[in-house]
Amino acid sequence: MMGPPVLRPVRLVLFGAPGVGKGTQAAFLQERVGVPHVSTGDMLRAEIRAGTPQGERARAIVESGRLVPDELISEMIGVRLRSVDVAKGFILDGFPRTVGQAEYLDGALRDLGKALDAVINLDVPAALVADRLAGRRVCPSCGASYHIRHKAPRVEGRCDNCGAVLGVRADDAVEVVRGRLEVYERLTAPVLEYYRSRGRLRDVNGIGTPEEVAERIDRVVASLNGS
Ligand code: AMP
Repeated sequence: MMGPPVLRPVRLVLFGAPGVGKGTQAAFLQERVGVPHVSTGDMLRAEIRAGTPQGERARAIVESGRLVPDELISEMIGVRLRSVDVAKGFILDGFPRTVGQAEYLDGALRDLGKALDAVINLDVPAALVADRLAGRRVCPSCGASYHIRHKAPRVEGRCDNCGAVLGVRADDAVEVVRGRLEVYERLTAPVLEYYRSRGRLRDVNGIGTPEEVAERIDRVVASLNGS
């Protein structure tokens, strides 16, 4: 694996449409920065797998590609932000997804005497996004994510971490993807303006290999001043 963290701890949001590579980049970045990757999608899928009341409430919504209610997801993230391991920093992936969630996040951080360092917007053309989602494979056991061409597992169809048989996310089915992209445009894209107008947004070109994109993100993170 990689060595010790080389970038100072930060509070970041990795932002972008479904399929731009947020999860892949957040997983890289957590090694480089030494702070946890917090993915609301992963948290929800874990609740669904475990069959908790929150998971049962979210299951049909997640599988159909709609957004779970702001109050459910904000409560989950509120609890997570108070955990000890995120005291120094975090990389949020998949949250906030509505302007209401962005306002909630600002308030929750303010209550903790903290603030976001930056929101990194991964910019990828729609055609590439569709290809990335169609080729995505995930591990049902540990949640690791792959792509059949761009990020293939060492053994075809098997997870590198735990050896489980890889599957396809229910919400990556072509007809569901169309709805997720529509939800992104209607409810999530307005969050960009929220952060742009507050001077928090950094655009990063998301085209290229995962390593190329990671280098661009590293440069942005290295340029952030202390908070
Ligand atoms: P992701 O893994 O980020 O693509 O999230 C998968 C699904 O989980 C989304 O399509 C939503 O149904 C749900 N989800 C994840 N994060 C949020 C959020 N911040 N707000 C509402 N729903 C969410």
